[in-house]
Amino acid sequence: WQTLSDRVASVAPSATLAVDSKAKAMKSSGIDIIGFGAGEPDFPTPDYIVDAAAAACHDPKNHRYTPTAGLPALREAIAEKTLRDSGYEISPDQVVVTNGGKQAVYEALQVLINPGDEVIIPAPYWTTYPEAVKLAGGSPIKVFGDADQGFEPSVEALEAVRTPRTKAIMINTPSNPTGAVWGEGTVRAIGQWALEHQIWVLSDEIYEHLTYDGEKTAYVGALVPEIRDQLIALNGVAKTYAMTGWRVGWLVGTIPVAKAAAKLQGHMTSNVADVSQQAALAAVAGSLDAVAAMREAFDKRRKAIVAGLNAIDGVTCRTPKGAFYAFADVSGLLNHPISVSGAVAKSSSELAALLLDQAHVAAVPGEAFDAPGFLRFSYALADEDLAEGMRRFKQWVG
Ligand code: PLP
Repeated sequence: WQTLSDRVASVAPSATLAVDSKAKAMKSSGIDIIGFGAGEPDFPTPDYIVDAAAAACHDPKNHRYTPTAGLPALREAIAEKTLRDSGYEISPDQVVVTNGGKQAVYEALQVLINPGDEVIIPAPYWTTYPEAVKLAGGSPIKVFGDADQGFEPSVEALEAVRTPRTKAIMINTPSNPTGAVWGEGTVRAIGQWALEHQIWVLSDEIYEHLTYDGEKTAYVGALVPEIRDQLIALNGVAKTYAMTGWRVGWLVGTIPVAKAAAKLQGHMTSNVADVSQQAALAAVAGSLDAVAAMREAFDKRRKAIVAGLNAIDGVTCRTPKGAFYAFADVSGLLNHPISVSGAVAKSSSELAALLLDQAHVAAVPGEAFDAPGFLRFSYALADEDLAEGMRRFKQWVG
C-alpha cells in the first residue's frame, strides 16, 4: 500500500535541472564551476520590469487572487503581442496565463490527450515534452530530425509514424536543444499536413525573439491560418526578458481550449502570482529594445562558443541560428582515453559527468534530449566564463 503512483513512476526526472543542481551544489561547496547547463539568460531582468513589480508589491490590491486565466490587462497585452509578433489576430479570451511556459505545455497536453493518444515529438526535443505527454496518459512518438537537415523533420518522416491515434504534434522553433530555426517551408508543410489529418499542433514559441544571421521565427498560425482551430501556441517571458524565475508563461488556443485550461488551472495552481503578472505586463506591453541588446550579446557568444568547440579535437558543432544553445557532436571523444586524464567515456552522459568532475565544466548530455553523442552548451553566461570554459574543455581533452 505504500507504493507511489504508476503515473509518477513513469516520469523521468528533468535531466537539465539535474545537471544544473549538481553544478550549483559543487559551486556552493567552493568549487569553481563554469556552468553551460542552465537554460537561463544571465542578464538581469530589465529595470522597467522590476520597477513595475516593485510598485505592484506596494499596492495592497495586488496581494489577492487574480482571475485564474490571468489579469485582463495581461491577456489583452498578450493578444496585442501575438498580432505584433506572430502576425495574426486573437482575442484575449483565447489566452491563459500560466506558471511559466512549462505549465502551458503541461496544461495543453492535459486538455487534449486521452489515454492511448499519440503525440509526435520531433527529436532532439526539450526534455519535458515526452514526460508531459506521459503525465497526460499519452504516448510520445519520437521522430528524429537529421543533423544534416538542420534537425528539421520531413513530412515523410511524420507521415511514416502517423496512426489513427495520432492526436497532436509538438513543434519548437527556435529549438531547445539544437538552436535550429526551422524554415518557413518546413513549418508550413507540417501545418498543412496536420490540417489535412486533423492533428493538433502545439507550437512552443518561447525562443521566438532569439534568432541570428537574419533568420526569423516561422509561426505556423500565420503560415497556415486554417490551423488555428487546432493550434495551441505556447510562450512565456522567461527567455525574451530574462525572467526565468518570475514564472510567467501562457497558452493561446481556441476559446474551448482556453476555458478548459483555465478550469484545470483553477484546481491546480489557481492564478500566477499577481506581482509576477504585473511584471509580465510591463514586459509584454513594452518594447523589444532590451531583448535586442541581449540578442546582440548572445550573438557574440554564439560565434565564440562555436569557434571554441570546433577547435577541440573530436568535437564538431554546427552554427545554431536561434535560442542560446550550441549542440555539439562529441562522438569523436567517446570510447577511447581522453588524453589528459586517461578517462574513457562510453556515452555522452558519462562524458558530461567526467567533464564536470574533472574539468569543472557543466554541460547537458544529449541523452536528455534523445540525442546521444551530443552535449548541449547554453551560452547564456558571461563572455569571460565562456572563454574559460572552452579553455578548460580543450585543455582537458588535450
Ligand atoms: N519550452 C522550451 C523549449 C524551453 O526550453 C523552456 C525552458 O527551458 C520552456 C518551454 C519553459 O520555460 P519556463 O517554464 O521557464 O517559462
